[in-house]
Parts: sequence; C-alpha cells; structure tokens
Amino acid sequence: MPGAVAPLKPVYLGIDIGGTKVAFRAETDAGPVDETAFAWGPRHSAAADLARLAGHVAELRTRLGSPLRAVGVAMPGTVSPDGRVTAWPNRPEWTGLALDVSLQELFPEAAVAWADDGDLGALAEARAADCGNLLYLGVGTGVGGGLVLRGEPCPGPSRGSFELGHVVVELDGPPCVCGRRGCLQAIASGPATLDRAADLREAAVTFDDLRQALGDGQLWAVSAVRRTARALAAAATGVQELLHPDRLVLGGGFAAGIPELAGWVSEHLTEFARPGQLPLPVGPAALGGLSSLRGAVSLARLIATR
Ligand SMILES: [Zn+2]
Repeated sequence: MPGAVAPLKPVYLGIDIGGTKVAFRAETDAGPVDETAFAWGPRHSAAADLARLAGHVAELRTRLGSPLRAVGVAMPGTVSPDGRVTAWPNRPEWTGLALDVSLQELFPEAAVAWADDGDLGALAEARAADCGNLLYLGVGTGVGGGLVLRGEPCPGPSRGSFELGHVVVELDGPPCVCGRRGCLQAIASGPATLDRAADLREAAVTFDDLRQALGDGQLWAVSAVRRTARALAAAATGVQELLHPDRLVLGGGFAAGIPELAGWVSEHLTEFARPGQLPLPVGPAALGGLSSLRGAVSLARLIATR
C-alpha cells in the first residue's frame, strides 16, 4: 500500500549491571541489533549511578528508534522480595534503593524483571544448549549457580535467587563470607581453592602456579582441586535428588582455566550416585563471560510473553 509505514519491531533489552561497568544488548525477533557498555567511574551515590544509566538508556532509545517491549536486568546485589537492594558489596551506596521502582521509572513502556548473574547464566546456557532442565555452576571469585526447569529460571523472578554457593556441603568446613561454615563457596571458589593449595604446598600459590602444577601432576595441586570438584559434585547431587535437571554445565573464570575440573566433577558425581541413579552429565559452559548479559535478554523475552 503506498505510503504505508513498516511496523516497528519490538526490542528486547538485556542489561548486565556489574560493580565496575554496565553492558547492554538489544535484540529483535530477527536477532541482535545493538550492543554497548559503559564504565561506572568513581562511586558517588545511587542517584548519580541511576542518572548515568538513564543517560545511556536515552542514547540507546534514540539509536534503536523502536519501542522497548521488555527489559531483563542482571543484578549482582541481593534484592529483597519487595524489590529493595539489601546488600551489594561492590556498590554499597545502592543499599536500600527501591530497584523495582527505579527500573520501572527508567522503562515505563516495558515489562521489566531482574535476576542474579547465576540465575541468568543458567538461563542463557540452557538456551545455548537447547536444554530445558539445566543446572549451571559458575566457579570464579565466588560460586554462583542457577537452575532452569521447563525452560524457566527456578525459583523464578521475585522468588529470590538460586544460591547454591551458600548450600552447606561440609558441616565443620571453612568459614564462608556469609557467616556460616562449610558453604560450597567457602570450599570450591577460585580463592578458596588457591588458599587450600597454598596450605598443602606450604607456600603461596597463584592461579598460574596451580595450572602448571596440575599439568605436572603435583599432589598438592591435584588434592586441592579434587576437593573443589568433590564439593561441587556434592552440591549438584543434592539438586539432582530434589529437582532432577538433565545436565550440569560448569562456567566461571576459574572453571574455564582448569580443564581437568569438569572430568573430576563427573567422577565425583558417579561416586555419589545412588544405585539405579544415573550421574548427571557434565559439560563446559558455552557462553563464558557473556552468559549473564545473554541471560538478561532471555529473561526479557520470557517476561514479554506473559
Ligand atoms: Zn555462605
């Protein structure tokens, strides 16, 4: 029809809010259309950060020229069920901020939801693997995790996050940052593994030292990483008993740098399997550091259909 204007394609926006930078990825049903990031700069106040965010969003809107249908946000801080930030060690001035109200003010035209990095990592990896029931473990500075069941994050937006890193796997284990003892994170994070390796070696151990020593088959390095693998397998077995995912995906910077880890976790999953129970298949993450941003876009697509 002469003069007809093509309808604007709705845009799904993912935002990964980090402690030092913020990344954006916009997609339409046809694929990605925009990807940008900015660094926060010096810490000042949550209001200053939100103004910075609003400025970037305004530029993005101008570039896109299409309405935002839904926005998914990866938020590393702890958010209470009523939408308030209760803790964020990297940007403590956000504590007390009403995240739900602030995001809705930024995106009045769109459906908005947030989730933590682990939950969104799981969602992105589940999409990448085309697997609707997937357990994700991100092993880095901490241990993050997420579970996708029937294609959706569990327990789901506004129900809290899947904090597998704070599940107790050793009753009298080492202290965790959360105040308990024996949390998975206190045993299996990158720093916890390096500390244990240093104790066993009786000398300081860097990540590169550990990798090198593993390659050489040094006992202190193998023992340190084996205990990490066994703790990860214990936590994953607990999830398997309760919720029966189809597979486990291992991501995070530490896991990416230790190629032995996935195989050892698999061995310990076999060790823990009850008679008649098949151990979970384990594989490496497909998306690496991109998983939370990709997961934020997936979250946007998920809430847009509601
Ligand atoms: Zn803990």
